[in-house]
Amino acid sequence: METLISGNRIYHMSGENPPAARVPDGSRLVFETEDCFGGQITREDQAIEALDWERINPATGPVWVEGAQPGDVLRVTIEKIQLADHGTMAAVPDSGIFGSRVQASRIKILPIREDEVEFRPGLTLPLRPMIGVIGVAPAEGKIPCGTPGSHGGNMDNTRIGEGTVLYLPVFVPGALLAIGDVHACMGDGEVMVTGVETSAQVTVTVKVLKGMTLRDPALETADRLYAVASHTDLSQAIHTAASAMLELTMERLGMDLEEAGMLLSACGNAEVCQIVDPLSTARFSMPRKILGSWQA
Ligand code: CA
Ligand code: ZN
Repeated sequence: METLISGNRIYHMSGENPPAARVPDGSRLVFETEDCFGGQITREDQAIEALDWERINPATGPVWVEGAQPGDVLRVTIEKIQLADHGTMAAVPDSGIFGSRVQASRIKILPIREDEVEFRPGLTLPLRPMIGVIGVAPAEGKIPCGTPGSHGGNMDNTRIGEGTVLYLPVFVPGALLAIGDVHACMGDGEVMVTGVETSAQVTVTVKVLKGMTLRDPALETADRLYAVASHTDLSQAIHTAASAMLELTMERLGMDLEEAGMLLSACGNAEVCQIVDPLSTARFSMPRKILGSWQA
C-alpha cells in the first residue's frame, strides 16, 4: 500500500509542524514535490526579483512515522524519482561562487527527456535525478528548508538518488519527514546555487531503526557508504564526516585510530555536496566491500 503525500508544503523543518499524514512504520510513501522556486517560474523572461521569496524552497510533508522516537534512526530508501518534463536554472547576482560577477539575473528553462536534459540545443546532459532537500524535524526551533544540518534538510547531495538508502537521526516523536527540491542533475558543489530544479514524484519506504545511534545523516549506495556533515566552514564539515567514518571503521574492523585512519587515507574520499547554502555540506565515503552497511 502506498500513501500519497501531496499539497502540504512547509518552509521550515520543525517539531511544531502539524503532520500531513501519520503512517505505520514500514510504509511506502509517494511525495509530490514542487521545485525550489515553488513552481513560480514559467517563462525565461520572468524577473527573478519579482518572485515571492516566502515560497522558495518548499518541502512536502511532514510525515509522522509511527513508533519513531528521539534517539532512533529513520531509514529512508529512495525507490523512485519521477521527474517533470522540464527543469529550471537561474543565475542571480551575489548568489553562488561567481555571484559578484553576475550582472543581471537570468533564467533558463530546460527540457527533460527520458534520459537527458537539454541544456541548450545540441548540448545535452545525462539525467541524474537526486533529492536536494530531505530531512526530519530538529530537536528544537525551526530550521528553514534551505538550510542543511544534522536533521538533513538542504544537503544538495548528488548521492541521494534512486536506490540510495538514507539514515536520518530522529529528534522528535514521529520524526516528521519532509522532501523537496528535486534536481534532474546537479554538479557537486552546486556552484551557481541551482541544479536543474524540477517538480517530481518521489517514492520512498520508511523504517524506524532502534538501537542505532547517528549524530548526522548517513547513506549508502550499491558500492559506497557515506557520512554527511554540514558546517559554515567546509573543512570542518569534512572533518566531522570523516570522523564519523573513522568511528565506524574502528568499531567494525576492531582497528585502533592509527590503523583506521590509514585505511581512510588509503581508500576513503572526502567529497563536496554543496558550498552555496547557509552551511556547506560534505560527505566522506568508503567502499561497502570493506565496511558493509550502516546497519550492523
Ligand atoms: Ca537545494
Ligand atoms: Zn534545488
